[in-house]
Amino acid sequence: MIKHKIIIAGAGFGGVRAALKLARNDSCEVTVVSDRDTFRYYPALYATATGHTHEESLIKLSEIFAGTNVTFVKDTLKGLEPGRKKLIGKKVRTAMIR
Ligand SMILES: Cc1cc2nc3c(=O)[nH]c(=O)nc-3n(C[C@H](O)[C@H](O)[C@H](O)COP(=O)(O)OP(=O)(O)OC[C@H]3O[C@@H](n4cnc5c(N)ncnc54)[C@H](O)[C@@H]3O)c2cc1C
Repeated sequence: MIKHKIIIAGAGFGGVRAALKLARNDSCEVTVVSDRDTFRYYPALYATATGHTHEESLIKLSEIFAGTNVTFVKDTLKGLEPGRKKLIGKKVRTAMIR
């Protein structure tokens, strides 16, 4: 079976949701690249303003992607080379998007 190699830039609501949904498909190989290793759960941010720590609104991406086929890479992306199907980051410069 041909695997679709998908790279998602960013792990906000959009990136995480897309990754979890795509990873359920056996024909997809999903990698998420984000500059943070946590997901910021904005609905819990009120806690920071009411005496709780900021960390209480952060969820580790390793926990979110545990048991899934999603590969997480912590990296800061600098750009995109659409013609060469490459993302430019410190670690993922040669990543291919098929
Ligand atoms: C209080 C509040 C509550 C919300 N609640 C919900 C909700 O319950 N459900 C919902 O669907 N939406 C919710 N939203 C809306 C949601 O936050 C926005 O729609 C969302 O921010 C857009 O999602 P995104 O994933 O595209 O981007 P963002 O949330 O902006 O995420 C971007 C991600 O990319 C990473 N990133 C940025 N630059 C780089 C770079 N150069 N290299 C690598 N990584 C990078 C960031 O670290 C981050 O992980 C809420 C918004 C607010 C303000």
